[in-house]
Amino acid sequence: MNLKHKEKIQLNESLEKYYQTMGISKEVFYFCQQMEETLKERFEKIDRITECNQLKVLKAMQEHHLSEAHFAPTTGYGYNDIGRETLEKVYASIFHTQAALVRPQITCGTHALHLALSSNLRPGDELISPVGKPYDTMEEIIGIRPSKGSLAEYGVSYKQVELLDDGTFDYETIQHAISPKTKMVTIQRSKGYLTRPTFSVTQIGELIQFVKNINPNIICMVDNCYGEFVELNEPSDVGADMVVGSLIKNPGGGLAPIGGYICGTKECVENAYYRLTAPGLGGEVGATLGVNKDFFQGLFLAPQVVGGALKGAVLAANLYEKLGFLCVPNGTEERYDIIQAVTFHDPEKVIAFCEGIQYAAPVDSHVTPTPWAMPGYDSDVIMAAGAFISGASIELSADAPMHEPFTVYFQGGLSYHHAKYGIMKSLAQLEHKGLLMFPCGFY
Ligand SMILES: *Cc1c(COP(=O)(O)O)cnc(C)c1O
Repeated sequence: MNLKHKEKIQLNESLEKYYQTMGISKEVFYFCQQMEETLKERFEKIDRITECNQLKVLKAMQEHHLSEAHFAPTTGYGYNDIGRETLEKVYASIFHTQAALVRPQITCGTHALHLALSSNLRPGDELISPVGKPYDTMEEIIGIRPSKGSLAEYGVSYKQVELLDDGTFDYETIQHAISPKTKMVTIQRSKGYLTRPTFSVTQIGELIQFVKNINPNIICMVDNCYGEFVELNEPSDVGADMVVGSLIKNPGGGLAPIGGYICGTKECVENAYYRLTAPGLGGEVGATLGVNKDFFQGLFLAPQVVGGALKGAVLAANLYEKLGFLCVPNGTEERYDIIQAVTFHDPEKVIAFCEGIQYAAPVDSHVTPTPWAMPGYDSDVIMAAGAFISGASIELSADAPMHEPFTVYFQGGLSYHHAKYGIMKSLAQLEHKGLLMFPCGFY
């Protein structure tokens, strides 16, 4: 046995002991360690993408001469907030767009999406989703479900084209759906909490090209939530006029305490400015109250955080698949967002999984999550989250509606090692409750 090998064994033993003090059995530990060994190539590819995106972010910060003065808080109207102005230039550089709106006044992803839509659509215009049903909260924005202040109330009509059975775009029906009234199409990159596949940036680019060939004036907006920094390119690199997302997901890097962004053409972003504040005011106002440093620092860390979350998702898919559960994406598929779905067909297993994620958290690890009747959902929902930023789903979190097929959606982790521990803890909880059967041939 050479020295290197001996050292490796010693380290593994120390690790095993540490994990044991953290409630991880020898069985779960070795199950995960062995699986991790098989994933080296996958992880290396993720590391390379992280590296490119890290350089992309760094380059943008250097180009715009980011400096300490940009971290100073502003109050009141927030005129001449150079931190805010620089942040928006940095975002525009990273997404390769003419302009960007990045503000703490945007309360969440849904708000950013509403802003992008409502500021660029006028009465009589038509909006089309060529990718089937959008994210739940979009239904009330659009007025698919009648709602106060929806686009429908303002005379904006809506059409939806379903995906084909294989999850690809129904180009023929999309072509027929587009009319002279069509002002915008909305494309959701991530599957969110649906079972369809997430679209790659390349696929989104093809769809945008198709729409632009019919009418180049149609605004193509992409809901970019959970997709940022997962690939080398962003939808704005392949023709999207606007990309929209939340800062308590990927681009906030876990540090942004609030916020959303819209990156896009000068005209689209300007419209959004006037809608966010008021006609005549636009982007000139909006105090940042001291959040700029966290926005910059979170953005700087975001590629690394996203990479760690992706590795965690890949590890989980491989482990749970090995245990016989359906994983979407599966253990070997390419990833286009950070969400991992695991289907249990068993409420007890769903609850144990979420308990494990919760018990692994840095915050509220002593709390036991239970299913409850959350407003807006048609069945009980269980949620596990012990986050520094309330509700931040770039931090390790899981949730599941309590009905067949009993699928848990989980995502995030500020570091790979924390994501890994969370997954181990979910296995430990299943084991603890007698719900885990290790595959034969293992150990
Ligand atoms: C999270 C999410 C949203 C909404 O963001 P919130 O911050 O929860 O309002 C919209 N679309 C997709 C695809 C998302 O994942």
